[in-house]
Amino acid sequence: MQNSSKLECLRHAAEIHKQVREYIRPYIKPNVKLFDICNLLENKTRELTRFNRNNPLIGGIAFPTGLSINNCAAHWTPNPGDNNITLKYDDVCKVDFGVHINGYIIDSAFTISFNDKYDKLLEAAKEATFTGIKHAGVDSIIGEIGEHIQEVIESYEIEIDQKIYSLKSIGALCGHSIDQYKIHSGKVIPNIKFNYPVRMKEGEVYAVETFPSTGSGHVIEDSDCSHYMINYLENTPTESLKGKDKYLYNIIQKNYGTLAFCKRWLNDLNLPKYQINLSNLVKQNIVMKYPPLIDVKGSYVAQFEHTIYIGEKKVEVLTDSGET
Ligand code: MN
Ligand code: MN
Repeated sequence: MQNSSKLECLRHAAEIHKQVREYIRPYIKPNVKLFDICNLLENKTRELTRFNRNNPLIGGIAFPTGLSINNCAAHWTPNPGDNNITLKYDDVCKVDFGVHINGYIIDSAFTISFNDKYDKLLEAAKEATFTGIKHAGVDSIIGEIGEHIQEVIESYEIEIDQKIYSLKSIGALCGHSIDQYKIHSGKVIPNIKFNYPVRMKEGEVYAVETFPSTGSGHVIEDSDCSHYMINYLENTPTESLKGKDKYLYNIIQKNYGTLAFCKRWLNDLNLPKYQINLSNLVKQNIVMKYPPLIDVKGSYVAQFEHTIYIGEKKVEVLTDSGET
């Protein structure tokens, strides 16, 4: 695949994403450990992308597997030590994972629930994301897409356990443009009405993702961060790094480049104690942390996400296989 075009790589990664999705679904059941779901999913992705530890950036996992539960909207994956957290029958679980080929990233998510009392919440996410996609295309004004998404989500009034909720669209979480090895490449697709007159261009790749919530629609950062990524937006100088900070930085560069990673994976590399050095890199703005984002306690958030390619005449929904 070394010389394949961008679109071929994206289609290949999307096909693998679909296969991993099909593979993992039967394992996602009440009482299963979240740790086990992640390991199965990530190992399958490594297998299908022919991940090569000696050349780790030519294909593989694009970012840590998100398994954000209930009021947690995004950026949760098990940390080392979270081995015994299981999925519950009444949980709403967002499964958000990524595949890349030559750095061309596919980012797609769906929501799983076992109790059908959440069906309308999940439906709202799906409808909102497809509404966003319907309004995408060459020259689409990105800010207007957010207005359409919000309108769909906030038209829902749903009942869960005899309580009525007017769904809110989480405004702090956005869709985003994607570049090679860069999951967030500069443009965002807001999920609320927003004055943002930037247009989509031919050849761009976007993740369209929406988050209806029974809570406030506002998220805050939770503790116990698991997700990290080299700060490629600011290009903070690294020449002055020394000792174990430098060692860890080089490990991150080699294994993940500008792709996101998590503590669980650093543990798998059998590094000597790295926590302090990771904090040092974060303090120096060389590595960014992405803590879990949560809405109010007791609320439920759903997510649905596809990666799309803005073609000259039509938008290709790369991750759509019709099954979800
Ligand atoms: Mn995602
Ligand atoms: Mn995304």
